[in-house]
Amino acid sequence: MSRLTVCAPLAIEARAIRRGLARADQAGTDQVQVIRAGYGPVRAAATGAAVARSGTEALAVCGVGGGLTAELRTGDLVVATQVSDGTTTVSCPSAPLLAGELRRAGLRVVTGPIVTVDKLVRHNHAALAAGGAIAVDMESAPLLARAGVLPAVVVRAISDTPEHRLLSPSIVTGGVAALRSLKNAAPALTRWAAATGSRQVLLAGPRSFCAGVERAIEIVELALERYEPPVYVRKQIVHNVTVVGDLERRGAVFVDELDEVPDDAVVVFSAHGVSPEVRREAARRGLRTVDATCPLVAKVHAEARRFAADGYLVALIGHAGHEEVEGTMGEAPAAMTLVQTAADVAKLRPADPGKVAYLMQTTLASDEAGQIAGAITERFPAATGPGSDDICYATTNRQRSVQAVARESDLVLVAGSANSSNSLRLVETAQRAGTPAYLVDSAAEIELGWLAGVSTIGLTAGASAPPAIVSQIVTALSGLGAVETKDVVVTTESVQFGLPKELRH
Ligand code: SF4
Repeated sequence: MSRLTVCAPLAIEARAIRRGLARADQAGTDQVQVIRAGYGPVRAAATGAAVARSGTEALAVCGVGGGLTAELRTGDLVVATQVSDGTTTVSCPSAPLLAGELRRAGLRVVTGPIVTVDKLVRHNHAALAAGGAIAVDMESAPLLARAGVLPAVVVRAISDTPEHRLLSPSIVTGGVAALRSLKNAAPALTRWAAATGSRQVLLAGPRSFCAGVERAIEIVELALERYEPPVYVRKQIVHNVTVVGDLERRGAVFVDELDEVPDDAVVVFSAHGVSPEVRREAARRGLRTVDATCPLVAKVHAEARRFAADGYLVALIGHAGHEEVEGTMGEAPAAMTLVQTAADVAKLRPADPGKVAYLMQTTLASDEAGQIAGAITERFPAATGPGSDDICYATTNRQRSVQAVARESDLVLVAGSANSSNSLRLVETAQRAGTPAYLVDSAAEIELGWLAGVSTIGLTAGASAPPAIVSQIVTALSGLGAVETKDVVVTTESVQFGLPKELRH
């Protein structure tokens, strides 16, 4: 019995896939059988029934297909999110996982619905596209419907498009490009099959948005309603590409500095806070400002001002270049020194060793920050820290919950963007617990090789990552086999912050 059966309607398509597998020289290829499914829906249905009887563990339907949208070019690969022939619709939830793998192999890939028809499509592209499909074939839906419940993917390499129509002279070059893409896609099918299997997903709780991020997003949304687009936002409102992309589509314009903001515009300061100099510059320019600084970051700013005013040297434990650190350091630049490691403590040169204070970036790993604070108090026994912990409740809770799932998991996935400090700290926390862990912005960034042989996955999301990404990842994993989810909740959160006065009414 083969682990993966690849069904290609035509012999020439099956040959392209076999060539691609033969060149791949990777483990698992010997467990793949490529069969000719036959042309058209009737033969495809019969092949689907045969696949169901064969006991194969996973199914891929691969061949050339017609593109229905102007964005598609010949040679592009379409990975189906669902296939439908009008009567039967079959979902392919693992499409983002395979599509991501193909993109990383350098191929041009689009995901979307594929429609199966029973006649060659020559002129009715627009009608089929109006139903939501992006590509058309003649086999996928009946084949998947008859194959029964098993992990399945559909990959179509585009041979014709609305511009380069079937039976036009360009079909030859389109067909060659499509067969080349099919061949190049074949190795990823083996990796997809190796990742299939049922598994448990442990959902860390709390995870995803914190109160400061929810408030910051709401502030931009309300500003867009109140002042109308464009509303300018200095820096990313929160460090997440999905959130930023969504707000951009709604009229927010993200800039790095105030000199990119036109006079008389409205500008929002991000959740990470700004230095007093930025506020002064906005006031000088007469810009209308709305402050989305998280109140817990503002608390650290206030502590920095207070210690500096009392004559302390203030060591800020944090990461150079992070916007929160830049904003906090700006409160009292002459009195503050950034400390990134315990070794940096040796560089502190207080005028009075009895007047050293330390503060922390809110999104640090608690254990690492604690070690650095320990090094400071060891060198300066009279050193004083923040009134209450600077590492915020959301950071602490997410680190505790990822630790809890990491202990029971073979792999930890953290939803979050690469510039998100708290998300990166979650990856490190899981790794320190001895579990491989990766940061992903979406399901498409999950490498299939991470999943092979993994039966329990811990899943969490940084404080700036939308909860929908976690759901998307669970759905994508369910396309590889049955998924049982279990919540591992270490605490619950009820923190809420009020809106700034400009937006209260
Ligand atoms: S992670 Fe903490 S400090 Fe940062 S926005 Fe969320 S609640 Fe505020």
